[in-house]
Amino acid sequence: MIDLRSDTVTRPPAAMRKAMADAEVGDDVFGDDPTVNRLQAVMAELTGKQAALFLPTGTQSNLAGLMAHCERGDEYIVGQDAHTYKFEGGGAAVLGSIQPQPLENAPDGSLPLAKIAAAIKPIDNHFARTRLLALENTINGKVLPPAYVKEATAFARDQGLATHLDGARLANAAVAMKVSLAEAAAAFDTVSICLSKGLGAPAGSVLVGPKALIERAHRWRKVLGGGMRQAGVLAAAGLYALEHNFARLAEDHANAEYLSKGLANIAGLEVRPQSTNMVFVKLPEDHRQALADSLEARGIIIRATPICRLVTHLDVTRADMDATIDGFQAYFSRNSKAA
Ligand SMILES: *Cc1c(COP(=O)(O)O)cnc(C)c1O
Repeated sequence: MIDLRSDTVTRPPAAMRKAMADAEVGDDVFGDDPTVNRLQAVMAELTGKQAALFLPTGTQSNLAGLMAHCERGDEYIVGQDAHTYKFEGGGAAVLGSIQPQPLENAPDGSLPLAKIAAAIKPIDNHFARTRLLALENTINGKVLPPAYVKEATAFARDQGLATHLDGARLANAAVAMKVSLAEAAAAFDTVSICLSKGLGAPAGSVLVGPKALIERAHRWRKVLGGGMRQAGVLAAAGLYALEHNFARLAEDHANAEYLSKGLANIAGLEVRPQSTNMVFVKLPEDHRQALADSLEARGIIIRATPICRLVTHLDVTRADMDATIDGFQAYFSRNSKAA
């Protein structure tokens, strides 16, 4: 199967499973798991932050991060399209009593400074207390412009706001920018990074930041039900992923670029410019489901959405890109009149 729905579909290969099976473990709620502790030390080092915390999911990592920054009745400024606002079930509000202040993202994924400035509330009992600016990188596969990141985080600091980055795919951003994870994370107080996306671990995210904030997040992780026991089996997969699957993300980006160029030649398809490991294709309404069915018959899985997201990852090859282009081509040449 060539599964292009997401980079979360990768399956741990034998060598990763062996690392998991061999992991030295202990009870991580007691702080006793040496493999979790090693992963946290490695991630703190790689991101240039004081401390790191291993959590089961990116959703929980973002939420524990937001809760470490904000108290009940505080507010965070966030993009309308941001995962922490749109795709996490409203967790910050539901579980954290934190009010989101969503702002329309610009096409490049940024939040314009003037809009941020206008959204910051005065200190007055009528208003929630604006505490935090939360950005996302990559956002829909796009790398936030580095100059923008610098400017927006400096502006936030000037305004007395803390900064959080949902860096679920920060490894992709770093590889695309050809900078270290530390450089990509430098402008933010806290950063959440998924090991379970392009890096290919079966589960796990890491929140990094200053020691005091990570200690607060540690408490919230327990409250949120994320205190795991012999979690070293998962942390071992994360360590394996960092060692073997980080630099190779460039291959996923090259495959996505190749796929996007191949699809752009097909009449009836509107292909958006590729960014990192994602290609977005506008599918003609009458063809969505039929196309998905036709591809599935060839072992290619996509989601039949109006703007279809095709994601490259560890478990798809250059030959799979050719097979996918062929599959699209075959469908549209059969149905070219309608397209
Ligand atoms: C996947 C993802 C998350 C959340 O990760 P889960 O592990 O699925 O909870 C957060 N932010 C972004 C941008 C993501 O893509």
